[in-house]
Amino acid sequence: MTLERGLMILVFRNVPARVCEVCGEEYVAEEATTQLLAAVEEAARAGVQVDIREYVAV
Ligand SMILES: [Zn+2]
Repeated sequence: MTLERGLMILVFRNVPARVCEVCGEEYVAEEATTQLLAAVEEAARAGVQVDIREYVAV
């Protein structure tokens, strides 16, 4: 999954996906979303421009 903020691009591999029971659409689990957004914040503060990361559940 690719996250963009301004000029920064972060790619996360192995993000856990869930499937909507109503329409069958895939979405990112809530706990993963929270973690990914925190990682984006941290990367933005660190001045990261492009990075490819492995998602690791905490
Ligand atoms: Zn749905």
